[in-house]
Amino acid sequence: MKAPPFAYVRARSLGEVFDLLEHHGESARLLAGGQSLLASLNMRLAAPELLIDITHIAELSGIEVRGRKIRIGALATHAEIQRSAEIARHLPLLSQAAPHIAHVAIRNVGTFGGSLAHADPAAEWPACCVVLDAQFVLRSRAGTRRVAAREFFQGLYATALRPNEILAQVEVAATGTNWRSAFVELSRRRGDYATVGVAALARKSARGVLSDLRVAFLGVGPAPALARASMAALEGKRVSADTIAAAGEALGQDLEPSADLHAAASTKLHLARVITGRALTALAA
Ligand SMILES: Cc1cc2nc3c(=O)[nH]c(=O)nc-3n(C[C@H](O)[C@H](O)[C@H](O)COP(=O)(O)OP(=O)(O)OC[C@H]3O[C@@H](n4cnc5c(N)ncnc54)[C@H](O)[C@@H]3O)c2cc1C
Repeated sequence: MKAPPFAYVRARSLGEVFDLLEHHGESARLLAGGQSLLASLNMRLAAPELLIDITHIAELSGIEVRGRKIRIGALATHAEIQRSAEIARHLPLLSQAAPHIAHVAIRNVGTFGGSLAHADPAAEWPACCVVLDAQFVLRSRAGTRRVAAREFFQGLYATALRPNEILAQVEVAATGTNWRSAFVELSRRRGDYATVGVAALARKSARGVLSDLRVAFLGVGPAPALARASMAALEGKRVSADTIAAAGEALGQDLEPSADLHAAASTKLHLARVITGRALTALAA
């Protein structure tokens, strides 16, 4: 199928984007890498009257380290994040997750901000941002507001973004040297969206004890959520066969997967337990 007709504007500044969003409201859509939006237009799942191309707005680009804070511009591509030495050093979880996103051609064009705003329940970045406790910087003509990743994702393809707002950047505190991260995903074929995936982060003591553990899943619910019961089962403990089993058991309280085209709900819960064991083993290594 072909996309329905739409008007197109290449915005040159955030001010121009704000004006266009104020004027056109929900009949306009921002266009970043186009890797999700164009597909949804072609499938006639969306029919905006105007596409506002934001890819030439310099202040939305780049990855910047300021002290312990990393600022990732909305237009940073998946590939830029994957090959960034600063990201590998300060936020290794993102480096671990990036290769799981689609294929090279899509990673070269698709953007961090586009993925977060799209909020696909099987996408990698949302779960990573939840465990990293990232802050999302949302801008509009009315000003700037910061929303924590945990509040940003509100349901299936639903976020805290208002129709007149743009996600401008994401701010994340660097994870220190005593932190460990792991990203594990199962998909039917390399490059497909996840059947189930998990992002995990914890502080590890010299004795191998995990604390401040954060575990979030993708592909098992409408939005990424922290697996609180499972985290509590491991807090202050060393990773062992017993603690992995306890964390897996607790996942029954944390997750209520829905069946999708690829797996039944019970299969998803089983796979979530399998990858939790792998992620915890990686954290402890
Ligand atoms: C074959 C294929 C496989 C894929 N597999 C995966 C995968 O495994 N994992 C994964 O995570 N993704 C996958 N994707 C999607 C890909 O990661 C997209 O890049 C991403 O979802 C959207 O980013 P984009 O820059 O292309 O955004 P666009 O498609 O341009 O926009 C997506 C949505 O976000 C809005 N938007 C974009 N930028 C902003 C912003 N700064 N502020 C507010 N709203 C904004 C747009 O208006 C639109 O509604 C796949 C895509 C394809 C085509």
